[in-house]
Amino acid sequence: MGNIILTGDRPTGRLHLGHYVGSLRNRVKLQNEGNYDEMYVMIADSQALTDNFDNPKKIQDNLHEVILDYLSVGLNPEKVTFFIQSEVNALTTLTYYYMNLVTVSRLQRNPTIKTEIKLRGFDESVPAGFLSYPVSQAADITGFNANIIPVGDDQLPLLEQTNEIVRSFNRIYGETLRECEAYLEKDEKAQRLPGIDGNAKMSKSLGNGIYLADTPEEVYKKVMSMYTDPDHIKIEDPGKVEGNMVFTYLDVFATDEQISKYSDFSSLEEMKNQYRSGGLGDVKIKKVLYEVLEELLEPIREKRKYYEEHMDEVEKILKEGTEKAISKANETLANVKKAIGIDYFE
Ligand code: ATP
Ligand code: MG
Repeated sequence: MGNIILTGDRPTGRLHLGHYVGSLRNRVKLQNEGNYDEMYVMIADSQALTDNFDNPKKIQDNLHEVILDYLSVGLNPEKVTFFIQSEVNALTTLTYYYMNLVTVSRLQRNPTIKTEIKLRGFDESVPAGFLSYPVSQAADITGFNANIIPVGDDQLPLLEQTNEIVRSFNRIYGETLRECEAYLEKDEKAQRLPGIDGNAKMSKSLGNGIYLADTPEEVYKKVMSMYTDPDHIKIEDPGKVEGNMVFTYLDVFATDEQISKYSDFSSLEEMKNQYRSGGLGDVKIKKVLYEVLEELLEPIREKRKYYEEHMDEVEKILKEGTEKAISKANETLANVKKAIGIDYFE
């Protein structure tokens, strides 16, 4: 079995810069290196329903936004199979069998789930579906026999959960499924990009993101509103670079070449030193960041425009990809049923 890559996103909003540096650009890199046999990208609408079940319209509306984002960053439908999770029934069936291999307390101990429950204010009333979405994620991954998963670091406890299920399954029913591995972004600062408000994670649900499809005006406004150093009041004041979102983003997005192109400094280090010792205002550093981000976002916007004007092509990509995914996941389900011994009519 060769390398099979799988990732996905919840269609709970348009994709943002956090997705780009945490996962999307790695997917494009993997795609272009070509060192794999199959690559799947899933729009996780069923998973998105687990905490948005009362607002299905949000999921419907964003499904197309997400596929447009994929295509606009350069994921190529000739190399990648895009599919819609809810259309692949085998994944739901796999989830049902895997549920038996996990305890409720194990799910409750999962650090990602714990944080997300708090964030959503679920507390004592967490829906069973939400609590068990890590199990459905195990079905998504194993359903395609995927071994390489390009994700942000908030996903690590979920991949660990998948591998625990794989080990239990193989122990009880015989060697059937294979374990997976996260493919993390090398730049640690990009593994979890904070929000423009300084919150630990840029997230669709927190509304603290710069979206790939934002207009230049929106990007400008957001950059100008970014959290910096609240004690840096006058330009002459010394400022803090650590925890200052503008510098955090420059660290992730800017090259020294760009710094010297858009400022009077020849490197980011030099710019930071000036800020630390005073005499460099927030508006100035924000303008540099805006230019750097626009260099990245402008071509993405252009590509998006093409696909927005060719939605019939987009529909076809989704439909063909989903058909391929259905037949692949059915194969896995057949193997799983055989291993358990419930393949009665085979
Ligand atoms: P939601 O708030 O609805 O959970 P989200 O913004 O967390 O949305 P997801 O669809 O849950 O986005 O995440 C998709 C992928 O993007 C995951 O691999 C995740 O690790 C990665 N990702 C999301 N936000 C960031 C971020 N701020 N920095 C790095 N990677 C991120
Ligand atoms: Mg998330």
